[in-house]
Amino acid sequence: MYDYLVVGAGLYGAVFGHEAKEKGKSVLVIDRRDHIAGNVYTEDVEGIHVHKYGAHIFHTNDEQVWTYVNRFARFNRFTNSPVANYKGELYSLPFNMYTFNKMWGVVTPQQAAERIEAQRAEAGITEPRNLEEQAISLVGRDIYEKLIKGYTQKQWGRPCTELPAFIIRRLPVRLTFDNNYFNALYQGIPIGGYTRLVENLLEGIEVRTGVDYLKDKAAFDAMAEKVVFTGPVDEYFGYSLGTLEYRSVRFETELLDMPNYQGNAAVNYTDSETPWTRIIEHKWFEFGKDENGQDLPKTVISREYSSEWRPGDEPYYPVNDEKNGTLYARYRELAEKESRVIFGGRLGEYKYYDMDQVIAAALRTCAQELR
Ligand code: UDP
Repeated sequence: MYDYLVVGAGLYGAVFGHEAKEKGKSVLVIDRRDHIAGNVYTEDVEGIHVHKYGAHIFHTNDEQVWTYVNRFARFNRFTNSPVANYKGELYSLPFNMYTFNKMWGVVTPQQAAERIEAQRAEAGITEPRNLEEQAISLVGRDIYEKLIKGYTQKQWGRPCTELPAFIIRRLPVRLTFDNNYFNALYQGIPIGGYTRLVENLLEGIEVRTGVDYLKDKAAFDAMAEKVVFTGPVDEYFGYSLGTLEYRSVRFETELLDMPNYQGNAAVNYTDSETPWTRIIEHKWFEFGKDENGQDLPKTVISREYSSEWRPGDEPYYPVNDEKNGTLYARYRELAEKESRVIFGGRLGEYKYYDMDQVIAAALRTCAQELR
């Protein structure tokens, strides 16, 4: 008999497990995949840590979270500055003075602001009601058309007019020559990979992988006082109220016999014709943009294809529109009635969490639960 059965060995489960163990609780962590670390899992290929389920760049403004993760890994100095490729034209991301200069030839922040203002005025948007209107009112129509529209529609499989405005507000718009993607005080990639970080969190805890909780729920429930469930909340309830929608991602990963494929960790393909959304070149997360990367003669790239999720696929992004929000609220009511179960993480709470938010949420739960 364990105090806690943690279902899912991703960040939420690993943090909870670690904290519970520290408080003297007995913990069993299980995961249906054959490895730990959930979607932050990294795999070693020819000395390169491949982000198997998509690029993960740790960034946070939360002092407590940053101090916390640094207990389990050292972080390198990495600054995410993706490049957008629109039909062979390259632009700096996020939207900053380099982007505006390339797009319009403007040189000063005043000129850039005037361009954006003119395009906003022309569109006549006062209260943005959807992602398209929000984007145009933030950066104007030219940037919307070349750098946002195609990418967003590929990523979400829906027109920008049917997507909520807040998704695009994740992206900074800067009238400075600063192409650091994240507005975060702290940023980096764990040296040695995310898998090692999660291994360190789970040190001394019993972990079983390749084990499916929902297939044998009653037997697992009998093994612990309480369950921490980090899988999809709708799946937990047998999809009884209907399925929540997710976006899924398919990766086409290739080992290439060249030291440098694209010169950057991330290149976004922002037109609507290119079928992939972006290409990740994993070595550039690890080594920084210096000649050290050239020491490795090979490189690994992943093309990312966004797709509609169907039962059986890996869920990645909760679709935060009204319909799914309403359905989630109903699942949430069911979840609250499960007094022995804590639901947490991106899938358990159906939230578009970043890694630092997942850790903060797990620590909050621990503070309440593990007194
Ligand atoms: N986005 C875009 N063009 C880009 C990159 C992002 O239009 O080149 C938009 C797109 O709508 C996306 C949103 O910004 O859904 C958030 O992007 P982010 O990079 O934060 O997504 P994530 O890192 O979670 O994949």
